[in-house]
Amino acid sequence: MNIHEYQAKETLKSYGVAIQEGIVADTPEKAVEAAKRLTEQTGTSWWVIKAQIHAGGRGKGGGVKLAKSLDEVKEISSQILGMQLVTPQTSKEGKKVHQVLVAQDVYYPGESKTEEFYMSVLLNRASGRNMIMYSTEGGMDIEEVAEKTPHLIFHEEIDPSVGLQGFQARKIAFNLGLSGQSFKEMVKFVYALYAAYDGIDASLFEINPVLKTSDDKIIAVDSKVSIDANALYRQKDLAAMRDVREEDPTEVEAGEAGLNFVNLDGNVGCMVNGAGLAMATMDIIKISGGNPANFLDVGGTANAERVEKAFRIILKDQNVEAILVNIFGGIVRCDRVAQGIVDAYKNIGDIPVPIIVRLQGTNAEEAKKIIDDSGLKVHSAILLQEAADRIKEVLA
Ligand code: GDP
Ligand code: MN
Repeated sequence: MNIHEYQAKETLKSYGVAIQEGIVADTPEKAVEAAKRLTEQTGTSWWVIKAQIHAGGRGKGGGVKLAKSLDEVKEISSQILGMQLVTPQTSKEGKKVHQVLVAQDVYYPGESKTEEFYMSVLLNRASGRNMIMYSTEGGMDIEEVAEKTPHLIFHEEIDPSVGLQGFQARKIAFNLGLSGQSFKEMVKFVYALYAAYDGIDASLFEINPVLKTSDDKIIAVDSKVSIDANALYRQKDLAAMRDVREEDPTEVEAGEAGLNFVNLDGNVGCMVNGAGLAMATMDIIKISGGNPANFLDVGGTANAERVEKAFRIILKDQNVEAILVNIFGGIVRCDRVAQGIVDAYKNIGDIPVPIIVRLQGTNAEEAKKIIDDSGLKVHSAILLQEAADRIKEVLA
């Protein structure tokens, strides 16, 4: 689960990570109030207005702007609030901005120059260990750095039995070219950041940029935080930060109905019980010349109600040209599922695309008969090969 930058920063701060301070607002008037309060708190005379959406690259899309007066705060926040922000990480349509973070300007000129670093914490699945990735080349073009000059990106793996070690934090600060006060600050920063990652069951932290300010502080200017959804049961405060407006509406609806659903961009909808079978079914669709339009696991109880909900969700997708139902009847009996499919079909009315139903397992023969006798536009199959051949036929 992803959270917004302002929520991520609050969370990091509670672990002692130094951040660029800010206040969230959902109207231009509140943005001006937020700017005044920030000046009282931090003494800042300029502010950055930052669109809050679950996607990066906001700076490039015009979603991060500097305001040098309260009038500019009002003007810029009215531009950004309500806009469809398109960034290199969103779809063509972009994402609607509901809130802005009014943040203190931290790039003020001083004795020494500011520097932007990159830092992320994530799980290295190959080694099974968390690692800290970092680079001197922070800022808005880290993807380009990774592509063209990958030797400028370093990583430090953390041994889970001993945790982050002092020498590792110092090595990071050293490799980032720091010395004196900013070196000490970076060591503290890395420690606090890793404690936060560990403490909130995160699956990804990306802090880009980490800024060395002109007075040698090290602070998080941006923060992208993803939390392992399987840990939300014990991270209630974070679970409450969920913003469903940022999620695919069909996926939210499916989730509420207890269906595991992921929208994809192919032409064959699928409805399956069990995640492993769902993935195998998606392979079969691909081999048969189609492309899966979704991943959908109806779970253990493939009853009429759930099947109907699943059909309705799949049919919302205009790209769907056929639907493949692939259910293995182990505990659930195939004839029950077949009856559920027939009932669901009748409830929905005329379904405009061909449906291929493959039921295998307990009472598979009876199930096939129920489908065949229903008189509906549903092809039945017991063997997966038959179902695959049917897909080829209907797509041809
Ligand atoms: P992203 O584009 O979605 O990654 O958003 P960021 O939070 O990283 O902001 C984009 C860019 O805005 C940063 O790389 C900075 O260069 C710039 N920026 C962020 N905060 C400030 C600030 O306080 N003052 C100034 N002048 N620029 C800032
Ligand atoms: Mn950034």
